[in-house]
Amino acid sequence: MHQVLNDEHRALQQMARDFAEKEIIPVAAERDRIQDPKETFSPELIKKGSALGLRTLAVPEEFGGPGVDLKGQVLVILELARGDGGVAKTFSQCWKWTPMLCRLATDEQRERFLPKFLEDDLYLLAMAGTEPEAGSDNRMPPPGYPKAGWKTSAVRDGDEWVINGMKHFIANGGVAKLYIVRTRTNPDVSITEGTTMFFVPSDTPGFSIGRRHDKIGWRFYQNAELIFQDCRVPASNLLGELNKGKGDSSERFVSFNDVELAANVIGISQAAFEHALNHARNRFQGGKPIIEHQAIALKLSDMYMRLEASKSYLFNVVDSNENGGAEFESSSKQLLKVFATESAIQITRLAVEIFGGSGVMRDAPVEKLLRDANIFPHLAADSIMNLRAAAKLR
Ligand SMILES: Cc1cc2nc3c(=O)[nH]c(=O)nc-3n(C[C@H](O)[C@H](O)[C@H](O)COP(=O)(O)OP(=O)(O)OC[C@H]3O[C@@H](n4cnc5c(N)ncnc54)[C@H](O)[C@@H]3O)c2cc1C
Repeated sequence: MHQVLNDEHRALQQMARDFAEKEIIPVAAERDRIQDPKETFSPELIKKGSALGLRTLAVPEEFGGPGVDLKGQVLVILELARGDGGVAKTFSQCWKWTPMLCRLATDEQRERFLPKFLEDDLYLLAMAGTEPEAGSDNRMPPPGYPKAGWKTSAVRDGDEWVINGMKHFIANGGVAKLYIVRTRTNPDVSITEGTTMFFVPSDTPGFSIGRRHDKIGWRFYQNAELIFQDCRVPASNLLGELNKGKGDSSERFVSFNDVELAANVIGISQAAFEHALNHARNRFQGGKPIIEHQAIALKLSDMYMRLEASKSYLFNVVDSNENGGAEFESSSKQLLKVFATESAIQITRLAVEIFGGSGVMRDAPVEKLLRDANIFPHLAADSIMNLRAAAKLR
């Protein structure tokens, strides 16, 4: 699919492509095979990308960053995720929460945290919502059940708030230096009225990391349990408004959520298509390259169709954002993410088939992509929740 890009976009795309080719692709398979989920992450790789500006890409110019727009961000994610979706997401997770730091934070909070974020190549951001007993209910709390959703509590004690509870599945967990934590500040009302967000730096007493989750795919990307045991933060760490934490959520300040995830999974699809095409051209069976057998050619056509449709949908939504069009409504973004995810699952599955028996061997490149793609139905509300939200079901 051909996109008209300006010089800045082309330069960003090239920078991300070069980084993926030189730094990500040579190590992605090897890191994926590391058994201990804590060891799959590479601080060196993040430092190298951060030095190129990949960590702080979304910081607006007025706050000392490059202020890359949504199209630029999407172009970078597509290239990085073609190399490794987990690496791409480690960086873009920081862009996702940058607006909280730059737009929602008070001047005092920005002065405290933003310089560290800009200067330290390993200063990563994370957002902690999900808990063992509170998953989908955080996204769409059922009416009439005020107790549904986050349970981690924050109680005021003088000039401090005391946080107790546990989060799990938290992205960049264990490697982030600043966490935005959703807490219950009123347990008797619905989470739409009773939650508050706090900045929790990783070295806060009473805060610790529990298990690192051992995922089937996207293994570079860290996910962990966060434990709060009488974790005290100063009252000045309260982010946004007391008891309005749910409203100050992604939809208000972080518009690229689902677009980001769609771009990532499309990058994975792109890699799967390229590997399958290359294999089909070079593997000889039945007296000719397998691409010349109709069954293989049809599979490649099917993959290409889904890949191009996903990209068109992605850039349609991105362009609509620029033009203020209706396609940038949250329902379009949610449906884009579901479509790109379902397409990627089919594309990576077909890639494995085209590789034959070697497709399911760990040393072939495509089985990793199939595992990576299968993470996406469960991200930022799963596909069912996305469809329910788009259908405006409660
Ligand atoms: C790799 C990864 C990264 C993540 N990163 C983060 C992060 O950084 N921060 C964070 O806070 N969370 C994060 N999450 C958590 C993620 O947002 C949740 O997993 C997701 O919201 C679903 O919650 P759950 O896993 O508890 O599933 P559940 O809520 O237990 O759902 C189980 C199943 O039931 C279905 N279901 C649930 N309720 C309903 C309903 N009312 N109607 C119909 N079907 C229903 C769901 O669709 C699903 O199929 C991450 C998850 C993963 C896998």
